[in-house]
Amino acid sequence: MKNKEIVKAKFEKQFGTTGAFYFSPGRINLIGEHTDYNGGFVLPGAIDKGMLLEIRENGTDLIRAYAVDLDEYAEFGMEEKDAPSQSWARYIFGVVREIEKRGGKVRGFDTAFSGDVPLGAGLSSSAALESAFAFALNDMYHLGIDKFELAKIGQATEHNYCGVKCGIMDQFASVFGKKGHLIRLDCRSLEYEYVPFDPKGYRVVLVDSVVKHELASSAYNKRRESCEAVVAAIAKRHPEVKLLRDANRAMLDEVAAEVSQEDFMRAEYVIEEIQRLLDACDALNKGDYETVGEKMFGTHYGMSQLYEVSCEELDFLNGIARECGVTGSRVMGGGFGGCTINLVKDELYKPFIDMVQSRFPEKFGRAPKIYDVVIGDGSRKLED
Ligand code: ADP
Ligand code: MG
Repeated sequence: MKNKEIVKAKFEKQFGTTGAFYFSPGRINLIGEHTDYNGGFVLPGAIDKGMLLEIRENGTDLIRAYAVDLDEYAEFGMEEKDAPSQSWARYIFGVVREIEKRGGKVRGFDTAFSGDVPLGAGLSSSAALESAFAFALNDMYHLGIDKFELAKIGQATEHNYCGVKCGIMDQFASVFGKKGHLIRLDCRSLEYEYVPFDPKGYRVVLVDSVVKHELASSAYNKRRESCEAVVAAIAKRHPEVKLLRDANRAMLDEVAAEVSQEDFMRAEYVIEEIQRLLDACDALNKGDYETVGEKMFGTHYGMSQLYEVSCEELDFLNGIARECGVTGSRVMGGGFGGCTINLVKDELYKPFIDMVQSRFPEKFGRAPKIYDVVIGDGSRKLED
């Protein structure tokens, strides 16, 4: 977590006073990719990196905000017409607007914030930012908004003020995170369950390929269309099937001749991935991290060969992980770039990272980034 003293000093310099401190984390997703829009499950966890903010009511109708890491300041009102231009400030503005839409009354405040979630790496720095403000304003103004609604406020901020049509997972994980646990979220019913995650003797490390997800949005729409086409074919025989979540392998085989080879592969991946996640949860409940790791490799294979959302850099990183004997490794997020998430035995950590740091630049001419993460608690107020 970012140093509270830095934020405190900046806040004091900017506003000449002190306020209350809040923190909201970024997140990882251990397994369960492209399952959300198919009504399946995801398995995120909050991490030990996030957004730290200091905040205090200022007695005006203005928000005065200082982004410490960017050394940028913004001042804006709270009506729809007052939307600020800086992208970081729009997250704060959006959260305030979404709270107001739900009947919460927010008054002007001063804030300074700083985070250590890498931006745009797939660890959801934006959700950390939104959740931090949603949680802080709810607490500070005694609005009584429940945690689920706080997550939805963050999601609606992305939709309505930042142009990102995201699901609920990132904000949900940031708000609901719990140390030593992942959260199995049913993306259809939104029911959730904490699953123990305390991998003694292992470390979780992300390797950032530093490839940007440029192909992602058009490919994403195509993948969704494939899933819908297979559901339509299956539903002719099994009208109860509304999403791939409801289908199984036998149903898919029945329609093999009626769907394209490509659509078949896409659905095969999704049906297997939903099952892999459930199997991984069983293994976690038994503390069997080797099986969890096998499932992660299974996800990578499926994303690369069946769903076809990997890329050369990510496949290369996955190959190094296998060669080093890493327990589990897979591309994390939608694909086409970003990080691999790796479950690595303590004694293999150094040889693995050393090999990544020598072989990746050799092949791609640039260094990957390494982020160690530990699963931590969700949004909270920091007492002194
Ligand atoms: P991510 O995958 O990390 O969520 P996004 O593009 O969704 O990437 O969100 C990144 C945006 O969130 C940044 O452009 C910025 O507006 C805001 N942001 C994240 N972290 C910070 C920070 N430490 N300081 C200021 N703004 C931040
Ligand atoms: Mg984001």
